[in-house]
Amino acid sequence: MDAGYWAVQAAAPGRREAPALAPQRPPRRPSSRLRPVLCVTLVVTLFWAWSTGGMPALLRMTGDATVRSVSTPAPAVTGWGPSYVDAEGRPGRWDPCRPIPYVLQAGWMPDSGRADVAEALRRVEVATGLAFVYEGDTDEMPSHHREPYQPQRYGDRWAPLLIGWVPAGSTDLGVGEDAQGVSVAVAVPNDGGPSLVSGQVVLDATHRLYGGFGPGGTEGEVLLHELGHAVGLGHVLDPTQVMYPQVKNSLPEFGAGDREGLAAVGAAAGCHPPPRARPLRR
Ligand SMILES: [Zn+2]
Repeated sequence: MDAGYWAVQAAAPGRREAPALAPQRPPRRPSSRLRPVLCVTLVVTLFWAWSTGGMPALLRMTGDATVRSVSTPAPAVTGWGPSYVDAEGRPGRWDPCRPIPYVLQAGWMPDSGRADVAEALRRVEVATGLAFVYEGDTDEMPSHHREPYQPQRYGDRWAPLLIGWVPAGSTDLGVGEDAQGVSVAVAVPNDGGPSLVSGQVVLDATHRLYGGFGPGGTEGEVLLHELGHAVGLGHVLDPTQVMYPQVKNSLPEFGAGDREGLAAVGAAAGCHPPPRARPLRR
């Protein structure tokens, strides 16, 4: 039986960003002056039905194996919510017992981009127990149709997490006026819940925020937010959390709910070996 392929897009409401880049660190600005834009999350769900032909099956699936994006923010009292769940409500997560490789699309990266990515990943590592491994820069462009298995480029494994900035209009992921950041996760249904096996974190290069992690709308805050999605967190209605879907004027620091969620999808949840990578049939 051929592999199934699903793509679900969910646009989360009301993520806001700061105005265009100014030469110096901005003062704190009232929220009313922030221009609303969307943060977009997408999940590409890959699964294989139990084979009845010559192709050995990787997974035995029962029931509805589709993984979906959670588009409704979790209420503030819950602290955090998952971004991707299966039919049983189990959150998608990476295997914390193996490093997560990533590559950078540096073609349009702002001056502070490389340092900001490193710092954002370091914070996610501290909060999750996951480990990210930089594998170099890539000329690969992010895309809604990015193949999660590219043996000629990346070898016989799942394609690494792709992080980068690209101009609006250079990708079909929707960054630009309506989205400062986009996060794409590739999820494979698995025993114990979906396995996140690849993904993309893409920021808009044509409407840049301020670099670093200072107050005001910053690339650092958007990176933390989108990386939170990439490791499995959804939006929350608590404005003290990074996963709140609006850029805040305060320093971008993971809040208690963020940290609780990051721990829940990280090493504390135990090893979660993913299915072996293989090509898709669309
Ligand atoms: Zn978001």
